[in-house]
Amino acid sequence: MPHDYRSPEPDDPPASSAPLATAQHQLARAVEILSYDEGLHEVLATPRREMRVAVPLRRDDGRVQVFTGYRVQHNISRGPGKGGLRYAPGVDIDEVRALAMWMTWKCAVVDVPYGGAKGGVTIDPHAHSAAELERVTRRYTSEIMPMIGPERDIMAPDIGTDERTMAWVMDTYSVNRGFTIPAVTTGKPLAVGGSLGRPTATSQGVVHTARAALRADGVELAEVSAAVQGFGKVGSHAARLLHEAGTRVVAVSDQYGGVQRADGLDVPALLEHVAGTGTVTGFGDADAVSNTDLLALDVDVLVPAAVEGVIDGDTAGRVKARWVVEGANGPTTSEGDRVLAERGVVVVPDILANAGGVVVSYFEWVQANQAYWWTEQEIAERLEQRMLASHASVSALARAESVTLREAALTIGVRRVAEAHQIRGLYP
Ligand code: GLU
Repeated sequence: MPHDYRSPEPDDPPASSAPLATAQHQLARAVEILSYDEGLHEVLATPRREMRVAVPLRRDDGRVQVFTGYRVQHNISRGPGKGGLRYAPGVDIDEVRALAMWMTWKCAVVDVPYGGAKGGVTIDPHAHSAAELERVTRRYTSEIMPMIGPERDIMAPDIGTDERTMAWVMDTYSVNRGFTIPAVTTGKPLAVGGSLGRPTATSQGVVHTARAALRADGVELAEVSAAVQGFGKVGSHAARLLHEAGTRVVAVSDQYGGVQRADGLDVPALLEHVAGTGTVTGFGDADAVSNTDLLALDVDVLVPAAVEGVIDGDTAGRVKARWVVEGANGPTTSEGDRVLAERGVVVVPDILANAGGVVVSYFEWVQANQAYWWTEQEIAERLEQRMLASHASVSALARAESVTLREAALTIGVRRVAEAHQIRGLYP
């Protein structure tokens, strides 16, 4: 009996809050809105290709240890697979499947010509030297070589990986092919074909969509307070950009804990503190706050920018923010979503709010394919245009159909993918 990836109950949130259950439930809801039949639902729910690889690592002390890696291409009807590579101790195949499915809808919502993919290695990157991470990355890349390439599947950074990782992936792929192929990854260093604006693109997109969501209610970023959970590639720049937009950023956190200050944190000083210590904790002139309590602070805007599943049924009941702007992938479970909707909280969903990263990844790939580089201003303008246009079409559909922004975004994304699938036809 083949595995059924469909969620059977679009009306009732799933009992499990695991990312794959959330992603399946969201798809089931979009399929219900779109009145698609079971066959199409099954096609959209089922990952197109998956690879599981062993990644043996020679440790710096000579011991050998074997890690497990995955690459999942959820859907490639609209173009090559696209999505990040995650290094985290809890990575498993179901998490990678969920993240790959979200990439499919995300790329479709912002109308970049990609499918959705994701990769992961079950490893704690903090427990390894740079040399070990380089060897893991190179071995993982060579194991999944048949699946990736500029026209097949393009990788980018995600949790636990960065632009250096992308340079190693690009180099390993290129050396094996015999010539330099920059477009196999995005989020690379500038020196090897990266794009201006890529490191801050996800956070820029979060701020563009936050601004648009607030303006729909007649409010400006300079008038509100915000809390940001997560201070990595997305959260740190989001906090800085919000601060620059005049928002009072009252709390931030990272994996070690958080800091809060009712009058607003001095974000530039906080960034310096983090550059020196590697964590937001211990920042002077602020009180400690836990990652969970941060979600319940009395703020206007909440930006979950860390990991999946943090806003579940319980925490959603304690959220005081009027707007939740999802910098992370899948931070809200289906039950959490239901509670937030009931309480009238506006949720700008991940597949829209954090899509700025993949939009500038697309620009990086286009530039690499053409070997012609755009200015920072061109990139910033095109990113803003695309984020605002995507937000406008999502919110117009939400209003017209009386659905949430998440349901509207999913409907647009899923419909675009289904259209591509149907127009291409089923082979054979
Ligand atoms: N990891 C990022 C995300 O989840 C970026 C993906 C990409 O640029 O391909 O959206």
